[in-house]
Amino acid sequence: MGKKVVEIENLVKRYKELIALDHLNLTVEEGEIFGLLGPNGSGKTTAINCILALLHFDKGSVKVFGEEIQPDSYEIKKQIGVVLQNVAVFEELTVQENIDYFCGLYIQDKRTRKKYVEEAIVFSGLEDFRNFYPKKLSGGLLRRLNIACGIAHKPKLIIMDEPTVAVDPQSRNRILEGIQKLNQQGATIIYTSHYMEEVEQICSQIAILDKGRCVASGTKEELKSMIKMGEKIHLEVWNLQPFQIAEIKELRHVYQVNYQEGMLEIWCSGGKHNLVHILDYFNSREIGFGRVYSELPTLNDVFLEITGKELRDSV
Ligand code: ADP
Ligand code: MG
Repeated sequence: MGKKVVEIENLVKRYKELIALDHLNLTVEEGEIFGLLGPNGSGKTTAINCILALLHFDKGSVKVFGEEIQPDSYEIKKQIGVVLQNVAVFEELTVQENIDYFCGLYIQDKRTRKKYVEEAIVFSGLEDFRNFYPKKLSGGLLRRLNIACGIAHKPKLIIMDEPTVAVDPQSRNRILEGIQKLNQQGATIIYTSHYMEEVEQICSQIAILDKGRCVASGTKEELKSMIKMGEKIHLEVWNLQPFQIAEIKELRHVYQVNYQEGMLEIWCSGGKHNLVHILDYFNSREIGFGRVYSELPTLNDVFLEITGKELRDSV
């Protein structure tokens, strides 16, 4: 087991009647890209704010680098880089001045700071915009500036709260690649998102949040192996009879069937050759069919099986 960078135990946070975090437990180890995946309102930002001691919580404990963090824990905070959900930069400072300001909160030595600011500008691809004021930047560039401000001081732990929301695909890819690069350079990352594709793409460990609770955690492979669904097969087929649908339901590994508007969806539990068995059935009964394709489980399927809700639709 790696060193523990963040340990959250039985964390409870209430906003009056509302329980935003309901006995949350999480452990983030050194070197991970740790994904906090959950729909809007599941408590991601609240959890981040508790980790940073920006919020007072009701119960439980939060440790960062083995210590309980306090609002004035300067030595711990120096080692954390934060990219908050809402862009927070100074309108009256240029791109370069903004990065220099945030870097200067932790790096006093002028020469080191100059070098770090330059590296953050290059890292974020903001070379051509260094003298721009934030209001002249597109949404994607503004996000990149927000990130540059958070990481310029080379923190060991980087926390990013939905850094790609409302960002164009090009900037989004650049941000995701950037996160992987920071991780390769040694930073531990906590990354929150309600986009399952992103979390699957970059995160080595994932915790799925729903209503302030962690409903499942592990690698993406572990999460997918927790659920019944191993494969979902789609078949275009016309005039299928109810008795045939019932027969298909009896095939090996099949546990659910849905037939609507000429499209048959077949949920299969793990197991090999599901498609072969199904096509054998259609061929042996001489039932014609059109398009066929098979889908492997996504993190949305994991969320759906555990909570009964769509991760996507609940956004
Ligand atoms: P997420 O970041 O996953 O979208 P949040 O942590 O922002 O979720 O919110 C969790 C829950 O707490 C939501 O129901 C939200 O409406 C509520 N909430 C968040 N901040 C406040 C606040 N300052 N006052 C009252 N309720 C809040
Ligand atoms: Mg949030």
